[in-house]
Amino acid sequence: LASLRRDDPDIAAAIDAERQRQSDTLEMIASENFTSPAVMEAQGSVLTNKYAEGYPGARYYGGCEHVDVVEQIALDRVRQLFGAEAANVQPHSGAQANAAVLAALLQPGDTILGLDLAHGGHLTHGMRLNFSGRLYDAVAYQVSETDHLIDMEEVARLAREHRPKLIIAGWSAYPRQLDFEAFRRIADEVEAYLMVDMAHFAGLVAAGLHPNPVPYADVVTTTTHKTLGGPRGGVILSRAELAKKINSSVFPGQQGGPLEHVIAAKAVAFKAAAGEAFQDRQRRTVEGAQILADRFLQPDVAASGITLVSGGTDVHLVLVDLRHSQLDGRQAEDRLHEIGITVNRNAVPFDPRPPMVSSGLRIGTPALATRGFGAEEFREVADIIAYALAPTLTAGDRVELSARVAALTARFPLYPHLETTMQE
Ligand code: PLP
Repeated sequence: LASLRRDDPDIAAAIDAERQRQSDTLEMIASENFTSPAVMEAQGSVLTNKYAEGYPGARYYGGCEHVDVVEQIALDRVRQLFGAEAANVQPHSGAQANAAVLAALLQPGDTILGLDLAHGGHLTHGMRLNFSGRLYDAVAYQVSETDHLIDMEEVARLAREHRPKLIIAGWSAYPRQLDFEAFRRIADEVEAYLMVDMAHFAGLVAAGLHPNPVPYADVVTTTTHKTLGGPRGGVILSRAELAKKINSSVFPGQQGGPLEHVIAAKAVAFKAAAGEAFQDRQRRTVEGAQILADRFLQPDVAASGITLVSGGTDVHLVLVDLRHSQLDGRQAEDRLHEIGITVNRNAVPFDPRPPMVSSGLRIGTPALATRGFGAEEFREVADIIAYALAPTLTAGDRVELSARVAALTARFPLYPHLETTMQE
C-alpha cells in the first residue's frame, strides 16, 4: 500500500485496520471468505482502467484485445467448472445477476415462486421491498414447521395454485441440500423456468461435495465471493438457447461497462476452484460445519434451550435456533463479537422475535477453512462458541475464551505478505 499510504493516509489507515481485524478475529460469517493474493492482484490491476461495453469479439470500444482474452478465459473456465452450456461473467454482484435473469425471462407483473426470506431465502427471491417483490408478483414457499426442511409437496401445491413463470431454488440461510430433481419436475409440470441461485454453495458444487444444479435448471446464478472464494461479483450460467436473452439483459439491459479487473479476478478464482487444494479446503469447510453441529447437539448446549434449525447441516453453515433460549440473536452475536468471533444474527423459521433482534445465529466455516483450519481447530472453535453462549458465562470466562481465540488466530497468520509490506 506504499502509494496509498502516501497519497491518502486516511483510507490506507482504514484498510490496515480492517486487515488487522480480519487477522485478529475468527471470521464465521457464512457468506464471507478470504480471497487469494493472486485474486487481489488481478482485481487491483490496470484492467480497472478499461471500458469494454459488449462481449468478447463484439465490443463498443477500441483497445479491447487484452480484456477480450481475460473475459474469454473467465467464460471458458466457469463453463468447464460447472459443466454449463453458456455463461455470463459480467454481473457486478449476485443481486444484479438475479435481476438480469428475471428481466430476461419475465415481464413485470409475472409470478415468481421463491423461498420466503424469513425461512432462509434471499432478498432477490421476491422480498416485498426488493426489485423482485416490487416488479413481479412474488409468492413464497416456506420450510416445514416440524423438520425445517423445504416441503416439496408445498412447493408443488403453490406452483399449481399460482402458475409461476419462474421458480427459484436457492437460499442464504438454509443448512441442507436442495432436491433439484423435484424442483425440475414441478417446474415442468407448471411450465415454469427453474432458476437455481447457488451463491452460497457454489464452492461445494465446484468441489463435487454438493449436487450440481446445472443439469436441472434453465439458469443458475451465483456470487463468486462466498464458498467460491473469489472477488465480489456475480455469474449467470444457462442453457445455450437462453444465452442471447441473458446477455442482452445484463448489457445493455442492466449494466454499462463490465468490471474487467473483477472478471480477471473471477477467472483466477475459477482456475483455483478446479484444483485439489480447493477441494481439500471445501472438505474441511463441510467437516467444520459438521463439527460445529455435533457440538451444538451436546447435552450442555441443549440444556440452555439452544438447538439447530433442521437438527444439523449438510453444507458450510449451521443455523443456531435460539427461540427457546434466554439469549436472542443480537445478544448471542454480541457475546461472540466480544471474544473475537464474527457471525451474523439471523431470523430462524417461525421466529417470534423481530428481524433486527431475531432468534438465530448463522455460523459458517468457509473463511476459517481457507485460513487453514482443520478438524482439530474446528473442534476448538465449536467448544469456544458453546461456552460463550452458556447462561453461566462470567467475565473471567470471557477473558479465557478471548485468549483461546487469540491463540488460534496467531497459529494461522492471514495474508502474512501484506504484513511485511506494512512494516516496510
Ligand atoms: N443470492 C444469494 C442466495 C445470496 O445469499 C446473496 C448474498 O448474500 C445474493 C444472491 C446477493 O449477492 P450480492 O450481495 O453480491 O448482491
